[in-house]
This record gives sequence, structure tokens and C-alpha cells, in this order.
Amino acid sequence: SESVSKRIDTKSSAAFEEAKQYIPGGVNSPVRAFKSVGLTPVYIERGEGSRVYDIDGNVFIDYVGSWGPLIMGHAHPEVVRVLQETAAKGTSFGAPTLLETEMAKLVVERVPSIEIVRMVNSGTEATLSAIRLARGVTKRDKILKFEGSYHGHSDSLLIKAGSGVATLGLPDSPGVPESVASNTITVPYNDLDSVKLAFEKFGEQIACIIVEPIAGNMGVVPPKAGFLEGLREVTERHGSILIFDEVMTGFRVHMGSAQSRFGVKPDLTCFGKVIGGGLPVGAYGGKREIMEQIAPSGPIYQAGTLSGNPLAMAAGYTTLKLLTPAVYDRLEEAGARLQAGFEKNAKEAGIPVTINRVGSMVCPFFTEGPVVDYDTAKASDLNLFRRYFAAMIDRGVSVAPSQFEGMFVSGVHSDADIDATIDAHRSALLSL
Ligand code: PMP
Repeated sequence: SESVSKRIDTKSSAAFEEAKQYIPGGVNSPVRAFKSVGLTPVYIERGEGSRVYDIDGNVFIDYVGSWGPLIMGHAHPEVVRVLQETAAKGTSFGAPTLLETEMAKLVVERVPSIEIVRMVNSGTEATLSAIRLARGVTKRDKILKFEGSYHGHSDSLLIKAGSGVATLGLPDSPGVPESVASNTITVPYNDLDSVKLAFEKFGEQIACIIVEPIAGNMGVVPPKAGFLEGLREVTERHGSILIFDEVMTGFRVHMGSAQSRFGVKPDLTCFGKVIGGGLPVGAYGGKREIMEQIAPSGPIYQAGTLSGNPLAMAAGYTTLKLLTPAVYDRLEEAGARLQAGFEKNAKEAGIPVTINRVGSMVCPFFTEGPVVDYDTAKASDLNLFRRYFAAMIDRGVSVAPSQFEGMFVSGVHSDADIDATIDAHRSALLSL
């Protein structure tokens, strides 16, 4: 196959060595260290559109997109402009601003189940706040989550988790008290029978189910037909709250998020990533009667010095406004083009690959498949993934350094970008 220019990593390697002296593991979030793929992390200098540029002068077509937020690409001119204008007027006040209400209105308009919404600073904060609210409202302590799902790093949710903890093989973190862990029930994703069994046993004690309506932290795993509906039914029957964690899927897979794509209405929804347009934002919202139990309208406490921050609201609001129906059509089309190309390449290379995709979330698993839950995702050949990742990086394509993460196509990846990616993928697979 064609000649391959290997990534140069002289400066990134030196930068990483220095960072390790001052930052634990050299990074501020674990997967960035490329530990599980055994490479030096890529130090980014700048991003523009579908591309990132590193400090060694390498260029990558980027499908990490800051792990999901950058649905309209890097440094989108309108986002940059609004950030500059907003920053010039002050970066934080800790007092209400008009844009916060505009933002909340937009979320309420777009997402059918949301009547009222509170802004926070990360996905982790959104989910931990929603869990506290569910427990406070139901006066129950147990929660139910799915194996291989990741909902941020709060104690209750760091049990059999996906994402980086799966990648590093640390699904149950030290430091989470047994008393907390014992209140988290985990069952396999897409397994409604196990959910029903758990409710038969503990139904009166379960405050909520928290679920990624499309799992994105064990790689991408779509819900089976009837799964989300089943969760809706079982929670209703037991007076339990249904929380959709749409931190990854929110505003990515549909204008009204995954719940609109599948037509199932949760009681509460968590957001992050896209809603912040690349700034640190999370949000949780839903039924008015539940949400008004949080302070100051109710007794359940949750607060934030920087919550509703003007820069974050400006970037998020501008990004959501860029997301027209035409953009969602494009995301679907670009995702399908990528999937078709990858499937053809895998066949030609004779490598067993299962590609799960929902819209712009695309995940090639190195397994015969089908991949329907964490166990079947883990059947992937992680050694092969490691070599594939290195081969893609060497061919100028940036994907997440883990089999348990998907690729995020953006609204600014062109057909030429997608086709160049398919060519790189073909060459990468043939090199394995
Ligand atoms: N929930 C889901 C579904 C996520 O994918 C993530 C992050 N990948 C989180 C929660 C946590 O969000 P954050 O990293 O912003 O705390």
C-alpha cells in the first residue's frame, strides 16, 4: 500500500516527560496519557475545523473532537467571535445574566422531556446532582446503572464503569466506600430481564435508573428495540425515577437528543459536552415537579461558583444555534459514509470488525460481534486495537486511544476528509 509518514513525536515526548514531574501521570484526565496504547500523547498546539495540529508539526483529521463537544469542529469562527465579545465584558459574575435564561429556553424548546433546567460545570456534576435529586425526592438510597456505562467520576457511579476506567482496567476505584458502592446495582446493558429481576428484589429501594440512551463508553452500543421503553415502564411501575445520561448523546444524535430519536421520555436528563460548545459545561433538567425540589425552590442542595458562566453559555448557545436540521442530516450522511468505507476495508483486509453507529457516533470494534453490551465489547481484540491506533496516528488520523470509545464525526468533516480517513484506515488495516 501507499507510503506512510510516521508521526514525529520529539517535542511531544519531551513535553510529556516534563509534565510528569508536575502533573499526576502527566495529564489532567487519564486517557490522554495514551497509557493503554503504549504511546506518547499528542500535544496539541491548535485546532481548526476538522483538523488538529500538534507541537511537532503533525496534522491530524480529528475524530476525538475533545471527546464529543466539538460537533461543529475546532475553533468555529462564530464560537470564537462570541467568546471574544463576551470575554471583553467580563468572564464571571456569580450573578444571573440574560443569556442563562436564553440558554435554558433553548434547551426546553429542543428537548421534549425538559420543562426546566439547571446549568453546572461538567457531565460528572450533572449526573451526581441528578442522582442526589432522585434520592432526595424518592427517599430511597439505591440506584441502578449498567455495566460498562460511564457517568462521570462521582462515588456512586464509579462502579463497573466504562470509558477510561475500563480502558485502564480499574472499573471499581479504590476510595469509593463500600457503604456507597453497596447502593449501586449494576446489570448488563440491553438486558431488560436483569433490570426486572433487580426491581423484583429491590424495587421499593431503588431511587432511579441512570442510563446512556446510546451507550458510548463501552464503545458505541445502541439500545435494542424496546429496551428504553422497558426502562420507562419498570421505573413508572415502581415509583422510581428514570434518568437519561445524555452527556454524550445530547444534541449530537438528534436536534432533541437521543430521547427524541427513540421517542422515550425520561424524568430527568443530564447533558454535557455539546451543550458547552467546548467550554466546561453540564446541565440537568426534566420534570418541573422534580427539578423544583432543588435549592432555592426546594430543600435538595446543589450550587456552583461558575455555574451558568457567561463564556460557557455563549459558546454553548452559539453551538446549539448552529445545529440546524441540515447539520443533523449531514452528520448522518458523513457517519454512514465512514461506516461503509470502514466495512469495505475490513472485508478486504480479512479482519473481523463490527461497526456500531448511531448518526455521527461511529465505533469499529475488533470482533466478529454483534456488540450489544460490555461483555461483547470486551471480546474485542485489544492488542489489534493498539496496533490499529498507532497505525492511524501515523497516517494522520486522530481517534480515541481506546477500543471503548467511539469516533465523533463533526458537521465540518467534508466528504474529502471522510474519504481520506477511509484511505488511511484501509492502509492501516492492511499494515496489521
Ligand atoms: N456521562 C457520560 C455519558 C459521559 O460520556 C461522560 C464523559 N465522557 C460523563 C458523564 C462525564 O462528563 P465529564 O467528563 O464532563 O465530567
